[in-house]
Amino acid sequence: MKLKSIKKAKFLRGQKVLMRVAYDITLAKKGKSWIAPDNRRLVATLPTIKYLLKQGVGIVFLSWLKRPDGKVMDKYRMDPVAKELSRLLKKPVDKVNDCVGLAVRSRIKKLKSGDLLMLENVRFHPEEMTSNSRFAKELTQGLDLICFDAWAQIHRIHASTLGILKYLPAYSGFLLDKEINNLEKITKHPKKPLTIILGGAKISDKVNVLQSLAQQADQILIGGGLANVFLKAQGVEIGRSYLEDVFVDQAKRKKINPVKAAKNILKQHKNIVLPLDLLVAKQMNQRAKPRLINLTKGEQIEKNEMFLDIGPQTIKYYSEIIKKSRTILWNGPLGVFEISQFELGTKKIARAVASAKAITVIGGGDTEEVVKKYKLEGKFDHVSTGGGAMLDFLAGQKLPVLDKLKE
Ligand code: AMP
Repeated sequence: MKLKSIKKAKFLRGQKVLMRVAYDITLAKKGKSWIAPDNRRLVATLPTIKYLLKQGVGIVFLSWLKRPDGKVMDKYRMDPVAKELSRLLKKPVDKVNDCVGLAVRSRIKKLKSGDLLMLENVRFHPEEMTSNSRFAKELTQGLDLICFDAWAQIHRIHASTLGILKYLPAYSGFLLDKEINNLEKITKHPKKPLTIILGGAKISDKVNVLQSLAQQADQILIGGGLANVFLKAQGVEIGRSYLEDVFVDQAKRKKINPVKAAKNILKQHKNIVLPLDLLVAKQMNQRAKPRLINLTKGEQIEKNEMFLDIGPQTIKYYSEIIKKSRTILWNGPLGVFEISQFELGTKKIARAVASAKAITVIGGGDTEEVVKKYKLEGKFDHVSTGGGAMLDFLAGQKLPVLDKLKE
């Protein structure tokens, strides 16, 4: 797939570029303020920013951060992100407290060549998620062109993704080009067996693409919150286990019941592999006391318990499959790895993927976090900066934002 790369844009000195970035990172509290300790998504966009600066333009950054659901939430402001970007570029990055409105427009009007301006979290506005076109148009006011480098947010149909592309000429940034080149290289003709490992908590996104991924893969190993949907679909009692996340993409939203969808997938595909044993607990915190239950022996999750990690038998079984695979795609932790009692499944599977003699592609914010936590950096062929985008792309889902950016 060839995109209209930013390299092809003809710039005039002093033009104003709306750079669409995916700076959706986890912030941490330090004293009374918030900081951005994980800057990988910022670092990934530096080549594009530096290229744009060389062209003598001013840059306005637009992103969302987490899920404030249309409300202003101080903990999700973009200030720490602007500060970290400024540190990385050794240049001031100005920050405004909104992404639309008079004050923002007048600040953009004053933007000069070489100026950098961070807009506020676009998800503070409910119009963002409903893809409101008036709001999308407002986001582009006073700007000359779009450089789209937000790979991790490309699969959402929002005002700040697809919406803005109607109003200005748009080009892809270098991160977007790199992601697509790498994913295409690795996955166009995957070496078989191809194993896909899916975990994590964004259930709706994953259930959506499973039908298509199951057709391509030799097997799909399921863990994390996603396993709950499949266990329930099989009639297994899942107690208080996590079952569904918030559907953020209202334009893409189909009225699907994930458990029903999982039932269908299990009926049609025999290559969905589910955990054999589980670690469960009554609470999801550091004080939780894990209990091992073996599903193959008919043991059950009690009504007041939650599934929080895969058990040792599952780890062994999944690791054997991983060892025999020639291509591996992995998205999402296998358990609640942030709590030490429930990290073993994710840790062992991460190590198994890292040492497999296979082409390995991983993606997703939390999967990257896992890689960092277990010091496995540099052990994978491609680490995508967007898990959901990666899965949609590989599943051949329609991605209207990419269609608009095609050459
Ligand atoms: P995702 O963004 O979809 O990759 O989800 C990552 C999150 O899934 C992590 O914060 C994990 O703690 C969480 N997770 C993994 N396994 C489970 C589980 N069994 N129940 C609830 N949350 C889980």
